Amino acid sequence: MKRELRVHPIRNGTVIDHIAPGQALNVLKILGIVGTSDAVVSAVMNVQSKKMPTKDIVKVEDRELKPHEVDKIALIAPLATINIIRDYKVSKKDKVILPDAVAGVVRCANPNCISNTHEPVISKFTIDKSQSQIRLRCVYCERTISEDIAEHLL
Ligand SMILES: [Zn+2]
Repeated sequence: MKRELRVHPIRNGTVIDHIAPGQALNVLKILGIVGTSDAVVSAVMNVQSKKMPTKDIVKVEDRELKPHEVDKIALIAPLATINIIRDYKVSKKDKVILPDAVAGVVRCANPNCISNTHEPVISKFTIDKSQSQIRLRCVYCERTISEDIAEHLL
């Protein structure tokens, strides 16, 4: 017998698969799906996966993601795959690509950083992917962020 299907297939939209476990709600936040959104969304958390011990999956109907949303998802779920569904078929499947640097995506954790003052300075971080955990380094004050990156997303 086939294993129970936890999430119904969608006709059109996006399936974000291989999200690091526990990050599904942060992915929804990145997509602006909070509170009284009328988006049709399903999320499953901590399901078994072949590629990783457990994973989260988010399906959003009738919506394809914008590049800046994909960049943000890459920061909190670097193994995520983005599947575009058209007429029940996967029409495009992409891994998220972690950029070498991001601008205007993350707020610096240092309250005295020039990017946190009233100066018109956009936050900029370089991304160190050499460790198992992603590390962001502010180009202005060198403060690093490696945990709870989702909390710092703008
Ligand atoms: Zn800074």
